[in-house]
Order: sequence, then C-alpha cells, then structure tokens
Amino acid sequence: MTSVNTAVQLITRAQAQAAPAARSTCSSALAEGPWAFDTPVPTYGPGASMADSAPAATPRQGELPEEYRRAGDDELDRRITAARQALGSRVVILGHFYQRDEVIRHADFVGDSFQLARAATQRPEAEAIVFCGVHFMAETADLLSRPDQAVILPNLAAGCSMADMADIDSVTDCWEQLAEVYGTEPDAEGRVPVLPVTYMNSSAALKGFCGENGGIVCTSSNAAAVLEWAFKRAQRVLFFPDQHLGRNTAKAMGVPLEQMPLWNPRKDLGGLAEQELLDSRVILWNGFCSVHKRFTVAQIEKARAEHPGVRVIVHPECPMPVVDAADEAGSTDYIRKAIAAGAPGTTFAIGTEVNLVNRLAAEHPEHAIFCLDPVICPCSTMYRIHPGYLAWVLEGLLEGDVRNRITVADATAGSARTALQRMLAVRP
Ligand code: SF4
Repeated sequence: MTSVNTAVQLITRAQAQAAPAARSTCSSALAEGPWAFDTPVPTYGPGASMADSAPAATPRQGELPEEYRRAGDDELDRRITAARQALGSRVVILGHFYQRDEVIRHADFVGDSFQLARAATQRPEAEAIVFCGVHFMAETADLLSRPDQAVILPNLAAGCSMADMADIDSVTDCWEQLAEVYGTEPDAEGRVPVLPVTYMNSSAALKGFCGENGGIVCTSSNAAAVLEWAFKRAQRVLFFPDQHLGRNTAKAMGVPLEQMPLWNPRKDLGGLAEQELLDSRVILWNGFCSVHKRFTVAQIEKARAEHPGVRVIVHPECPMPVVDAADEAGSTDYIRKAIAAGAPGTTFAIGTEVNLVNRLAAEHPEHAIFCLDPVICPCSTMYRIHPGYLAWVLEGLLEGDVRNRITVADATAGSARTALQRMLAVRP
C-alpha cells in the first residue's frame, strides 16, 4: 500500500493534469514540504486543523537548511540511516502512530503519546530522545526521562491544535470563577467541590496545574478509570481540553448529558448559569481535535450501506453522535488490538488519523481496512515532522549540536510529574 505522503503526491499530480484521482485531499498544499509553512505567521499548516487559529505564542520553526529541503526521499532516508548507525545507543527515536511512514520506518518505538513517553524511560543510556510527534508529547517525555537526557522535537512548529485550545491563563481564570460558585469546602463525605482532570494532550503547564490542585492526567485508554478516581475525591470534575473524550467517557459511565455543561473560556462563567454549574458532574472545556471532528454519522451509514457486516471502530475524540453510531470506540491501542484479534476476512471502517489507518491496512492484509473519511486529511501538526527535519536533528547530534531541545521548566515539572504519577497509580 502506498504511504499517505505518496498518495497525496499522486493525487496532486493527477489534479494538475486534470486526470481523475481515486481519492481527494483536504489541501493540495500537503504535497509541499512542511518548511513551506515555517513562516513568521503562526498557522498549523495544511491538514485537519488548518482552519483553526493558532495562538500567537505558537512555537515557530526556523528555516530548515536548504540541503535538507532540496534532498529527495531516498537521500534523506540514507542520511537518517547513516546518522542512526553512527549515533548507535546514544539516541532513541520515538514515532507516534500518526506520523508519516517515511519517518516511522526509522523509529525504535512506535506508539501513542503515553506509550512513547514510557518507552523513553526504557533507554536511560540514550543521551538524546528524538520525539517524532507533537510538542506536548516531547514535554511529557522530558518529564519522565532522566534530567541529563535531551528530548528533541524535530520541528518546533509541531504543536497540537487541541492542546492549544486550553492555556494556563484561561484555565486558571475558569478555576477562580468556579471557586466563587462552589467555595472550597468538602462535603460530608470529604469530597472537594471540583477537581481538574487534563487529557494527556495538554501543555506541561496544565499538567502542573492539575498536580497543584489535587487533579490528575488521563489518556484515551484510562479516562473512565481516572474519572472514577476523581469522583471518589470530588463532587465534580473540570475536564480539559477535549470535550468529546470527556463527554463520551462520562456518558458511558452513566453521567446524564444535562450534567455536563460546556465551558466557553471566552465568556463570563463559561457562558453558563450558576445553577447549571451547581448541578454539574463534569464541566467540559470547549476544545476538540480537528482530525477526529471530521468523522460523521453519514460516513458510518455509507460504510454500512456499501460494506454489509462492516465493523466500525472510532476514537473517543470523535463527536458523541459518531461514537454512538459506531460499533465500538477506543484509543489507538484499542483499535490496533481489535484489528489484530479480528477474524480473518473482517471489514473494518476506522475513525482515526489516516496515517495509522493506512499502516494498519498494510500490516493486516487478512482484513479489509479503510478510513471512514474518504478525504485524505492528516493531522496538520504531525505532518510538520518530515524526514528532512529528522535528518537535520540527527546530523546535528553527530556534530555535537543539540537542536530543538524541549525542556519543561523546574517550576512546573514537579507538579506535572505529580499529576502523571497519580494517573500511573490508577488501575483501570
Ligand atoms: S490528531 Fe488531534 S489531538 Fe492528535 S496531535 Fe493532531 S490535532 Fe492534536
């Protein structure tokens, strides 16, 4: 099966020649090298979050030297391989499931954000951890790795539009308003009025906020267990930044939708009435993933009409109607395991990032696997990691130059680790 990157190139070429193409992309700019978007203006670049506005403080990547921009795929592949071999155990390369195949083939570990952060701890001898993922993942790896290990993000502009939807100032402001509504006294059972829970897809500053305020981190694999932990300690939860993961998880646990108001950080009291807040069990932050927001109930209905017996599995970052319409919902790890355990000859329609879906299809020729979204629209920020940047940081290490190091400030790191350790102690 051709990689997503190659498919994008073929589609764009066919469009230029006015020839028919089997599929389409959400942006012809995906055929460009990501360096075309390393502009002074903060944008997420082409892909699923290109319509989202990037905060002014979004990190920017300086210009990639021309030799890496001009190099072809084969040359970059050779250079990365040579640098890897020369560096040996001095470096470990981590590749997130949503990365392009041309990067994944060089990864020592492939996984979701938390699996990769833990993988980093399995190579204490490595002086550099090159994280082919996005910014919050590199921060988490820095929190969990040894202080003398350098965590490197090959392209600094590889952020996460969802993580950017909740910043420390807005969450602190929300927290202060909630304290005015609820006070801070525990109830008769010793449960505090509210606890913060942050999804792994958030800045280290927000993980630190949770650590300081009795809260915790969750992943898409353990969100229900983490919410149970929180409900034992609090009357309600403030869940950020992903409203969909929060809503889908709490709904499956039996929390009524009317007890899950949506907090809009641009409005006083989140745009909510005080009584709604008093009646709430889960206050959802108004954030979302633009990749998973693309999946619709109509796509599921079409898949069922065209592929009788199809098994539809979607990620819990998808909107609630999509999760409700699917056969199953689960994390990337759940999706991978479900496919691996499926009876040969099963047809799977998957609602998650297209790079992972294509790779699963290639790894499992015994099944028919396709992405629910017919349009090729990868994650804009994962797309920022191109083999050119990987070659640049690895060759930098060979020259003794640590490029694009991600470091969490000491003032935040301790409390962020506390929130992560609370999560690790929760058993699903
Ligand atoms: S897929 Fe969504 S949540 Fe994951 S990095 Fe991309 S924008 Fe962020």
